[in-house]
Amino acid sequence: MPDALPVVAVLATGGTIAGAQADATSAGYKAGTFSVNDLLAAVPQLAGIADIRAEQVANVGSQNMTHAVWRALAERVDALCQDASVAGIVITHGTDTLEETAYFLSLLIQHDKPIVLVGAMRPATALGAEGPANLYNAVALARHPDARGRGPLVVMNEDVHYAREIQKIASAGLCAFASPNRGRAGVMHGGTPYFYSRNTTTHTTQSEFSLALLEKASWPRVDIIYAHADLQGDVIDFVADTAQGIVLAGVGDGNATDLAIAALSRAADAGVTVVRSSRTGSGFVARDVELDDGALGFVAARDLNPQKARILLMLALSVTRDAAAVQALFDRY
Ligand code: ASP
Repeated sequence: MPDALPVVAVLATGGTIAGAQADATSAGYKAGTFSVNDLLAAVPQLAGIADIRAEQVANVGSQNMTHAVWRALAERVDALCQDASVAGIVITHGTDTLEETAYFLSLLIQHDKPIVLVGAMRPATALGAEGPANLYNAVALARHPDARGRGPLVVMNEDVHYAREIQKIASAGLCAFASPNRGRAGVMHGGTPYFYSRNTTTHTTQSEFSLALLEKASWPRVDIIYAHADLQGDVIDFVADTAQGIVLAGVGDGNATDLAIAALSRAADAGVTVVRSSRTGSGFVARDVELDDGALGFVAARDLNPQKARILLMLALSVTRDAAAVQALFDRY
């Protein structure tokens, strides 16, 4: 008897990888059109490397990703991690919010089993669609022992990225992803992963963020304010009325107009947790550079981009409302 192939679960959520156009060269298309079985049928080579178990968790463009889908996804991933017959998990996903889902899972899932997210920039019906090759690489990575213990990984365009580091950096084209601060994790070559670094915050199976959060009907509300020249304070006052947390996508090192900082300070005084991050796309936001974070009661996002800082703050607020304790979580994750 030949050895049985490793079991890889493929959870589909939609995206361009499952998108369809009216014809193979048109720019217009609809994300989340094809089913998980359609995606798998386009890659018959998968039958040679894994025993696939397919599930359709959602079928949306990831611009419509919701906390409800994250909840369902995290519960399925957690259950599959506990299933000893499953070697690894692949999640097909739209590219727009792929980095957010990956980071959310990396904070919440407390298992070492490989979890690989994958998408495509070209719809499934396009000339030269890269989804099938990406999906093949994702399954090859998810079944590979070197992928264990690294937290969720992302495969796009033959690059492997850590969940915390990856960022969509272009709205179109195949080279749309990078890990701007710490570099990519490695590459896929001929279906084999080659890891270059462990240069990320080490994935922990001991994080304080547990699936118990998912049981709560509503999660702490965290909104993002995008800074720009002449930003006024009233928009921040408005947001602070309903938010438990605000992430500033600040100019430069997480800065904003005096009016905006005064409004954020009012929000912090009223009990809203304020995190300063940068809209620049890379770099570091440290405490007390141009602002006195201690006096203002602010938290510095370090090298997390605003959309990931929103996720960490949302989870942090489920365990503490204290700014110093939230800062300690940002220093750690
Ligand atoms: N809007 C699409 C999505 O995120 C883009 C893509 O998948 O490339 O679902």
